[in-house]
Amino acid sequence: MSKIVIIGANHAGTAAINTILNNYSNNEVVVFDKNSNISFLGCGMALWIGKQISGSEGLFYSSQDKLEKNGAKIHMETEVQKIDYINKIIYAKNKLGKDIIETYDKLILSTGSIPNKLNIPGLSLNNVQFVKLYQDAADVIEKLKTDSIKNVVVVGAGYIGVELVEAFQRCGKNVDLIDLTDSCLSEYYDKEFRDKMTKTLTDNGIDTHYGEKVLEIIGDKKVEKIITNKKSYKADMVILAVGFTPNTFLGKDSLELFKNCAFKVDLTQKTNLKDVYAIGDCATVFDNSIQDTNYIALATNAVRSGIIAGHNVCGTKLESVGVQGSNGISIYGLNMVSTGLILEKAIKLGFNAGSTSFQDLQKPAFIEHNNNEVLIKIVYDLDTRRILGTQIASKQDISMAIHMFSLAIQEKLTIDKLKLLDIFFLPHFNQPYNYITMAALGAK
Ligand SMILES: Cc1cc2nc3c(=O)[nH]c(=O)nc-3n(C[C@H](O)[C@H](O)[C@H](O)COP(=O)(O)OP(=O)(O)OC[C@H]3O[C@@H](n4cnc5c(N)ncnc54)[C@H](O)[C@@H]3O)c2cc1C
Repeated sequence: MSKIVIIGANHAGTAAINTILNNYSNNEVVVFDKNSNISFLGCGMALWIGKQISGSEGLFYSSQDKLEKNGAKIHMETEVQKIDYINKIIYAKNKLGKDIIETYDKLILSTGSIPNKLNIPGLSLNNVQFVKLYQDAADVIEKLKTDSIKNVVVVGAGYIGVELVEAFQRCGKNVDLIDLTDSCLSEYYDKEFRDKMTKTLTDNGIDTHYGEKVLEIIGDKKVEKIITNKKSYKADMVILAVGFTPNTFLGKDSLELFKNCAFKVDLTQKTNLKDVYAIGDCATVFDNSIQDTNYIALATNAVRSGIIAGHNVCGTKLESVGVQGSNGISIYGLNMVSTGLILEKAIKLGFNAGSTSFQDLQKPAFIEHNNNEVLIKIVYDLDTRRILGTQIASKQDISMAIHMFSLAIQEKLTIDKLKLLDIFFLPHFNQPYNYITMAALGAK
C-alpha cells in the first residue's frame, strides 16, 4: 500500500485521482487544493457569460463529495506552501490558518497554470478582470448586470480572448479586441484562416486592434480607459487574456524545468525526482509534430496526463503517445480546427515545410441546404513528406476531420499516403472528390 498525495484537484488532478481509485484498491489517496471548487470547465466560460447556456451548473463534473465517496481524503481551500522532496513531507495551510503536515510515498503535482499579468500600471483598478476560475467568470457576470458596463476591452486575441469578445457582444456591450501581434489566433492558424476569423469578428461588430501594445490602464478606482502605443480606448471593464504560465512554484528549486518553467516530465509523467510526477498545465508534453518536448496547456492534455500518471504511480507502466495540440474554436458559426504546426511556425522552427490547400463546398452543389464552403490546409515536410499540421475552416461542422490528421501526425504519416486514402462518399455528407483527397493530391 502506498500513500499517494496529489496537489491540485482540477482537470489533471481529478483524472489522476479517479484513475487511481477506480483501478487500484490498496492505496491511500490524499488531495490538496487551494480553491473551493473542483473541475470548472473554463471552456464553458464564454458560453455562460454570453448567455448561450442557462447557468454554470453543468460546467462542473466532479466535487469534493464525489471524490471522497470514491475514497480520497480531500483538503479543500488548503494551500500547499512547501515540499521537502528529500524527506517526502508536504507543508500546507488551510483557510482557518491551520498548518497541515503530510508525508507521501508518491507525489503527483497538478498545480496547473496562472494567468499572465502585464507589467503595466492600473492592474489593481476595479473591473480589470482575469479569466481562469469559476469565481472570475461569476464576478464578470455579476458586474455585467449593472448598466455602468457599456464598453468592454479584451486584451489578448488568443482563443480565450476571441471567445470572450463574442460573449460580451452578445450581452449588448461595445467590444474592442487588442493584440500585440498582427492578428488573432496566431499560434494556431495561418494568415488566411486568421483573416477569416477577423472578418467574422468585425462583421459582427467587434472592433479589432492588432499590432498595438497596451501601456497603461487608467481610472479613478474603476477602470475608465486603456492606453496603447497607438490609441486610447474607453473601457468600463478590461479583460486580460494574455496567456498562462505554468504554476511550478512548489518545485522550481528542486525539479528540472522546461524553458518556460514547466516541470519537465518523461512519457510516464515522471519528473527528474524518483516518485514525483507532474501532470496537466504545470508539466511539459511530448509534441509529435516537432518530435520534441513542448508546452501545450489544454484540458485534453491535462486529463490524458492524469490518467497516465495515475497508472504509473500505482505500478502499471503506461507511456504517453504524445500530443499534437489539437484545438478548435467556433465563433458566430465559423468553425475552425487545427492540429500540429501551422506553416508559418514550421518554417520558423527550421523545417523545410510546404503546404497544400483546397477550398470547396462540403457537399455536391446540388445539395442546396446546409452546404458550406470548407477551406483545408495541410502542412508537411518537403524533405521527409511527413504531415506536420492541418487547419480546416467552415460554417459546416467539420470538427471530426481534424482527429484523423491528429492521428496522422502521431503516426508520422506522409502526405503521399493520404493521396488515395479510402474516403467514403455520400451526398448527404461530402463530395466524391473529397477536399482532403484533393488537397493531398495537390501536394508537390
Ligand atoms: C477561459 C478558458 C477556456 C478554456 N477552454 C479550453 C478548451 O476549450 N479546451 C481545452 O482543452 N482547454 C481549455 N482551457 C484550458 C484548460 O482549462 C486548462 O488546460 C486546464 O484547466 C488545465 O488543468 P489542470 O488541472 O492542469 O490545471 P488547473 O486548471 O490550473 O488547476 C490547477 C489546480 O491546482 C490547484 N493548486 C495550485 N497550486 C496549489 C497549491 N500550492 N496548493 C493547493 N492547490 C493548488 C488550483 O487551485 C487548481 O484547482 C481553457 C482555459 C480557460 C481559462
